[in-house]
Amino acid sequence: MAVVRLDKLRKVYPNGHVAVADASFEVGDGELLVLVGPSGCGKTTLLRMIAGLEAISAGTLAIDGRVVNELAPRDRDIAMVFQNYALYPHMTVAENLGFALKLRGRPREEIAGRVREAARLLELESRLDARPAALSGGQRQRVALGRALVRDPKVFLLDEPLSNLDARLRLAMRVEIARLHRRLGATMVYVTHDQVEAMTLGQRIVVMDAGVVQQIDTPMALYRRPANLFVACFLGSPAMNLLRGTLHVGDGLRLAGAQGPVPLGLPPQAAALAPWHGRELVLGVRPEDLQPAGEGRPGRLQAQLELIEPVGNEIFLNLRYGAQTLVSRVPPRPLPAPGAPLALDFAPERLHFFDAATGVRIA
Ligand code: ATP
Repeated sequence: MAVVRLDKLRKVYPNGHVAVADASFEVGDGELLVLVGPSGCGKTTLLRMIAGLEAISAGTLAIDGRVVNELAPRDRDIAMVFQNYALYPHMTVAENLGFALKLRGRPREEIAGRVREAARLLELESRLDARPAALSGGQRQRVALGRALVRDPKVFLLDEPLSNLDARLRLAMRVEIARLHRRLGATMVYVTHDQVEAMTLGQRIVVMDAGVVQQIDTPMALYRRPANLFVACFLGSPAMNLLRGTLHVGDGLRLAGAQGPVPLGLPPQAAALAPWHGRELVLGVRPEDLQPAGEGRPGRLQAQLELIEPVGNEIFLNLRYGAQTLVSRVPPRPLPAPGAPLALDFAPERLHFFDAATGVRIA
């Protein structure tokens, strides 16, 4: 068992900066939990508090029910993999892998056995005598993972472990980490600023911004029902289209600077929206939910096609709508030339509504 529980965990740096504000969540036994957010949002600080590398300002951190706030890193039974690998350049791969066990005074045969096992799991057997300088980026990353692996810790913490690799290698290592997690069944906390990495790796994702946990859920739930505008915009590429306007129930959304109201029909969210009559809100629609209107149908939005971006199996359409740019994502198909008018449609049940003042989801 290895359950990590954070209760109102807080970090205030000596200069008064609140890097993590009251984070509360649990990492389940055997779960791969991803912490994601933009640079500076506090994810590394949070991870370092779990590791014991950063003092906790307030709140409690428990591992398997035991409060470990004051426990030294080496006594927490946690292994951390860093973004820069932190390999010892003068040691061979085998020595790097076994070093933590050697420090702990484990018997030589045990170390050799565990190093062999890690090397087998990570396909490093043929490189055991090489030094880090002679390895490829992917192999170095695997050695860094292997060093955590040989310790057989309760919890693995990974801080942007793939950020120094090129795009192709990142993809390959991502698959490898997912496979490793499945095979070990270990509890893992994985930090990244890359939303694609978060969505593909995480069983659950913690989205952070400005030190505050914004939402915790499965990747699909976050995508389908973002709790606020930050989460809505952070996940998904191209990003969700946002239209700000005043709601007139029965009439639609009146947008600043647009020709007329955007008819919403009677969306299933109508009951939740009723109290918002006459108030300002933000309508969100994902690019795949905004489609050119069908044959003979005028569509709800009259836009102008600005730019066509083919990206292989789909096309991104950049459209001008009043003062705004919208993006629609369509399968390959014949399209009018840039500059032409294009009517757009959306399914009312796929819309997202947010409070314009707070950004919080309404429906
Ligand atoms: P990145 O992806 O860039 O590493 P992050 O989300 O991991 O960012 P942190 O490294 O946790 O963010 O930093 C969170 C905030 O705390 C940042 O604004 C950072 O400038 C600030 N910070 C980090 N370390 C210190 C420190 N020792 N003293 C004061 N402020 C700090």
